[in-house]
Amino acid sequence: MPTSDPSTRLIHHAYRPPDGFEAVAPGVHKASTVIFPDVQALRSRDWKDKSGYTYGLHGTPTTFTLEERIATLEGGQFCVLAPSGLSAISLVDMAFLRQGDHMLLPDNAYGPGKAFAEAEMRQWGVQVGYYDPMEPADLASRLTPATRLVWLEAPGSITLEYPDLPALTDVVRQHNARQVADRPAVTVLDNTWGAGLAFCAFDLGIDVSMQALTKYPSGGADVLMGSVVTRDPALHRQILLCHMRLGLGVGANDAELVLRGLPTVALRYQAQDKATRELAQWMQSQQGVAQVLHPALAGSPGHRLWQRDAQGAACLFSVVFDEKFSSAQVDAFCDSLSLFQLGWSWAGPVSLCAPYDVRSIRSLTAWPHRGGLVRFAVGLESVEDLQADLAQGLAKLVS
Ligand SMILES: *Cc1c(COP(=O)(O)O)cnc(C)c1O
Repeated sequence: MPTSDPSTRLIHHAYRPPDGFEAVAPGVHKASTVIFPDVQALRSRDWKDKSGYTYGLHGTPTTFTLEERIATLEGGQFCVLAPSGLSAISLVDMAFLRQGDHMLLPDNAYGPGKAFAEAEMRQWGVQVGYYDPMEPADLASRLTPATRLVWLEAPGSITLEYPDLPALTDVVRQHNARQVADRPAVTVLDNTWGAGLAFCAFDLGIDVSMQALTKYPSGGADVLMGSVVTRDPALHRQILLCHMRLGLGVGANDAELVLRGLPTVALRYQAQDKATRELAQWMQSQQGVAQVLHPALAGSPGHRLWQRDAQGAACLFSVVFDEKFSSAQVDAFCDSLSLFQLGWSWAGPVSLCAPYDVRSIRSLTAWPHRGGLVRFAVGLESVEDLQADLAQGLAKLVS
């Protein structure tokens, strides 16, 4: 329709992305509305198989590309994106659990995921229980005919115990084989630490892999996003339908930031892994330190399993201080560091630390240590500088 009205002409401008424009970076495509050529197309195009575009929430070329790349990274088949790691966790809970169901979490699970289960799932009539992730027999004893979801984490949040993932998933598989239920228990791994790089979750028997893309895939400490990856089309469909009903979507600019981080994710993982092992090992020999927790250290819980199942370790280690130091002294140690900043999250460029009271976050198992714990996340600064920062902080602590 020819018109001289400037608004109409600007909105119905003839722009199309140029054919033959082969940039390295995928384009940033934005939409709520996607235009259909005719009513027939509007009625027949199905968003669920991703064969076409229907509405911004159902995906754009940018989010489809990111989904495919995250699925590739994790050795999976299907992926959905959520606006944060935590929303990916709550999506999985809501996709698989109904009133009367039972779910299990490892006692060292990511805290906000525990909180969602305790505060929301419980009030919707879901029973929430815990198991000792270092004892597959303990998990076996806690599965019931109503169990529909079992969370796993490798290693545990904050305390970094490395579990026997194949043994744990095998316990659930054997339990399912004995049940007549039409809804078997699903295993879901919080794979943020492994990031698809330390091991392939699906090869270790996991059904669903959730990841906080906020951490490694972004790498910039500047974007929040989560993913849920599967190899199983039926599980994926259940997640996808719940995802759509909840109205979860991610912004194109955020998707672009994660796409930009992916080409360097393996290099960053390796570099931070190497630096973290150096610092963790060095910390272990320092005065005032009772134990360093890191799966690659011989004394750390699950070290052998990590050696057997993983090809790398992330940027985290935790230090348990000698019990002679008060929590105020441990807090003062954290305050005395200058390169290690105080803050949440990890896998970004800046090194971080935070003190934790582990006793207060355990639901089931006893925490064997009495000294204060500080978790460190190693960034991309020089290892020598980071070690010097720790050394000056320790010198003040023990003086
Ligand atoms: C950060 C994190 C999450 C949540 O990610 P957000 O994007 O911050 O919501 C979940 N699990 C683990 C293990 C994490 O470290």
